[in-house]
Amino acid sequence: MEGQSDFNRWFGRAKTLVLQPTTLCNLDCVYCYLPFRRLGNEMSSEVARAVAASAVDLTDSGDELDIVWHGGEPLALGRRKFAALLAPFEELRHAGRIQHSVQTNATLIDDEWCDLLAQYQIHVGVSIDGPAALNTRRVDLRGRPAFDRIVRGIRRLANYGIRFSLIAVVGAEGIKQPESLLDFLADLGPHTIGLNVEEMEGVNDQQCGITQDQAERFWYGVLNWRKTHDGGPALRELDRLADYLGLARSGRGDEWCRYGLDPIPTVSVDGDVVLLSPELAGIGDDAYGDFLAGNVRSQSIASMLDQAHRLRYAREFMAGLRRCEAECEFWDFCRGAQACNRYFENGSFATTETDYCRLTRQALITALYTATTKEIAT
Ligand code: SF4
Ligand code: SF4
Repeated sequence: MEGQSDFNRWFGRAKTLVLQPTTLCNLDCVYCYLPFRRLGNEMSSEVARAVAASAVDLTDSGDELDIVWHGGEPLALGRRKFAALLAPFEELRHAGRIQHSVQTNATLIDDEWCDLLAQYQIHVGVSIDGPAALNTRRVDLRGRPAFDRIVRGIRRLANYGIRFSLIAVVGAEGIKQPESLLDFLADLGPHTIGLNVEEMEGVNDQQCGITQDQAERFWYGVLNWRKTHDGGPALRELDRLADYLGLARSGRGDEWCRYGLDPIPTVSVDGDVVLLSPELAGIGDDAYGDFLAGNVRSQSIASMLDQAHRLRYAREFMAGLRRCEAECEFWDFCRGAQACNRYFENGSFATTETDYCRLTRQALITALYTATTKEIAT
């Protein structure tokens, strides 16, 4: 059996802690993977204090840790309770050892929330899938479109001067119109746009039916849009590719991912911790059990990471990574994509290809190849 040294070969230090302040969400998006989004389970101050104590260990090297509040809908907790969860981290924040981020649907953002977000210097990520016609699957609990409320919240952030990023799930319609999708998102004024081609995960077990050919044409359109929108918002996926190509071109390709994959400890409302993919929180099956690495009230996250090689799904994922490294021509750039997609799509972490890696990693590289060869030919 592989030991901890094997885990350390693939994984670096935790750069991100994902925290679930509440399971509740005020929306009911058609593709949502969260199983308990209608339940109002909330993180206690005791759990937040335990996470902050763990964050002390995880930042003693001097590297900053990103604390990502990701529900449910984190703002559904209310400002007072949310501020109480932030309080145990204040010393670390003032020392520059942690930085807060929140991933929100923006529908609850008002000026008081903007005050709080500014006070704690929280990075804000908003989920919106494009203009109204592409956003129809983001609906409230009564099935009504959430589009107007999302845009209102985004405009409030912009008016208040809070920097925000946007993340869009690109479905079967959005995949056909990269330029108009990006025009719309860029007009909202984000500093970064992330594009998630729809995938199968958690309780969202619907295949979206997007083909690799469609995905390649989509990324080709994204690359073209970038060329004509210099000075526009950063595009997360293209920036990652540019970082890789920059290193590879200067003969420093081995520095890409040199610090390893982020094990992404994810802490649920009751302190339970899963590793590798936040989507594994709150689920389980006969083969893998509950995916738990431990509970932060009784064990530090650093010690859970020290024992991570004992987890069946971590061992299997490492076997999958080994196969990726040996077999896949996209390995140098990709470095293995997401653990959860292997499980949700293939039923095992020891596998390699998934729709996610085909549509997001492989299709992006082949689109770049097509764009480059066309440029050389003209
Ligand atoms: S806003 Fe997020 S958490 Fe809420 S239903 Fe939609 S995808 Fe799920
Ligand atoms: S593209 Fe897919 S198969 Fe290739 S390295 Fe990435 S995850 Fe593995």
